[in-house]
Amino acid sequence: MITRLSQLFVRTLREDPADAEVASHRWLVRAGYIRRAAPGIYTWLPLGLRVLHKVENVVREEMNAIGAQEVLFPALLPREPYEATHRWVDYGPNLFRVVDRKGADYLLGPTHEEMFTLLVKDLYSSYKDLPLSIYQIQTKYRDEARPRAGLLRGREFIMKDSYSFDIDDEGLEASYQAHREAYVRMFDRLGLDYVIVQATSGAMGGSASEEFLAVSASGEDTFVRSPGGYAANIEAVTTPAPPEEDASGVGPARPVDTPGTGTIDQLVEAANRAFPRADRAWTAADTLKNIVFKVVHPNGRSELLVVGLPGDREVDVKRLEAAIAPAEFAPLADEDFAAHPGLVKGYIGPVSVSEGVAVQHLGSAGPLGVRYLTDPRVVSGTSWITGANVADTHLVDVVAGRDFTADGQLDVAEVRDGDPAPDGSGPLRLARGIEMGHIFQLGRKYADALGLKVLDANGKLVTVTMGSYGVGVSRAVAAVAEATCDEKGLAWPRALAPFDVQVVATGKDPAVFAAAEQLAAELDSAGLAVLLDDRKASPGVKFADAEVLGMPTVVVVGRGLADGVVEVRDRATGERTEVEVAAAAAHLVALVTG
Ligand code: ATP
Ligand code: MG
Repeated sequence: MITRLSQLFVRTLREDPADAEVASHRWLVRAGYIRRAAPGIYTWLPLGLRVLHKVENVVREEMNAIGAQEVLFPALLPREPYEATHRWVDYGPNLFRVVDRKGADYLLGPTHEEMFTLLVKDLYSSYKDLPLSIYQIQTKYRDEARPRAGLLRGREFIMKDSYSFDIDDEGLEASYQAHREAYVRMFDRLGLDYVIVQATSGAMGGSASEEFLAVSASGEDTFVRSPGGYAANIEAVTTPAPPEEDASGVGPARPVDTPGTGTIDQLVEAANRAFPRADRAWTAADTLKNIVFKVVHPNGRSELLVVGLPGDREVDVKRLEAAIAPAEFAPLADEDFAAHPGLVKGYIGPVSVSEGVAVQHLGSAGPLGVRYLTDPRVVSGTSWITGANVADTHLVDVVAGRDFTADGQLDVAEVRDGDPAPDGSGPLRLARGIEMGHIFQLGRKYADALGLKVLDANGKLVTVTMGSYGVGVSRAVAAVAEATCDEKGLAWPRALAPFDVQVVATGKDPAVFAAAEQLAAELDSAGLAVLLDDRKASPGVKFADAEVLGMPTVVVVGRGLADGVVEVRDRATGERTEVEVAAAAAHLVALVTG
């Protein structure tokens, strides 16, 4: 069936939507593919829906190819299973919670580990039933703090989520690898430039996990790569600890007057002026910076946390968020400082000197009882200039392991371009990406919480081990648009375009319209999806719309017809070729199916 633009439910817009930050959002709205219904919630119009279905089919075919079976869960879910895994609480404000007429709690599913686990528990009881992989392509709900960029981060979005069930760790490894390979084929078919990176598991729990990131400056994720092949989400980069140092020659911690040095720059400047080193100048890396946060747990309980890190590094907010998830953090306000006189803003340190003796100040064992965690670079024997917990005063020669012991490590300092890869594979390079997929070895966390056990070959009950694997299906529509659009509009790859060919009839000559109709009919009967621009509009409007709509091939039937030719335009390259009318259909079929 030929689709006629005069009939198609679409309006192209001249203006950018006011909230559009990224190109894909701008063009998907302007080309009439999607329409905003509420913040982070979109309606799919006919053109958008055709792309969405194509993405779904790629995903479905690759899942089926590894033997995964498709099911479909409800999106409206009961509270109890999510209570059993603590996610009713841990998901915090991200969860859409709903109450029914009887007062019972429900939620709109953000992801479905619990439901899949319970379904398999319902139906299966023996190792003979495993391995099993099941999946769905379904609408998910997350009340994201910052919905943005149209489909890229929605509050309602479509995800493919699959789950594997195995009797042992080797089985899980095999299921995980099968999914990984299916994802590689999937994202290759979508034509995305992507990297597979080590990831953190966040609220999901579990151990090994990797993300598939589409390389894009519009992405919200930052990742690192080394020449030797290390690749990780910035959240998952681990800082190698340097060797411990011998501090036997370092004198006792001593206070120095450092008036007006609430920042690291001021401190370094004052140190080089008031107590210079003989061998070299003091730098920010010689200082131990201590930052206080209020950590808010999902159950509402909050506590203070101090992080100590070398003064030449900032805390990376994303790394901090990932490290303390599902808890969240807030910086300390002035009134919080007022309520904790032991924390002197600008002069906080792990140690205080009282009557000439160094005593630990921070840490669970210190007088404040505030948890103190340090960067992995703060190893035993390293000595630092740091706050003395007295206004306008710092301590010099404060030695880790001698003068203070932290409660533990927190690896949340920024990672910089050029930092060494943790596996020694060279300097790290930073780039940005859009998370397209995430694969997890969940292990037994959910099966334990929900009691999914089967009988093994010896008749013994064993807990099943699971994997969980997500793909952002609606996000993929935007990610492909983001990678392929240009300043004129969308430019779909053949595999995802809503129509293979757009035939544009220009001018007023009825013979032109008749020829365009006939070409469209020939292409249609050859099995191509054809969009025919049969509108009574100026050529300029039609060409501009064709560029906005983004079909990969546009055929212009117009003035050339008198000479027996039509013009074939390649949307992506802008290349134009004249083709004889008689040969046009065969030429186009070869282009599209080639
Ligand atoms: P992000 O870090 O981007 O918030 P996530 O790690 O929370 O994502 P997962 O729970 O791993 O996401 O979900 C699986 C996939 O679903 C993601 O890889 C992503 O492609 C997609 N996805 C997650 N959140 C959204 C969203 N708000 N809008 C669109 N797609 C999403
Ligand atoms: Mg993820």
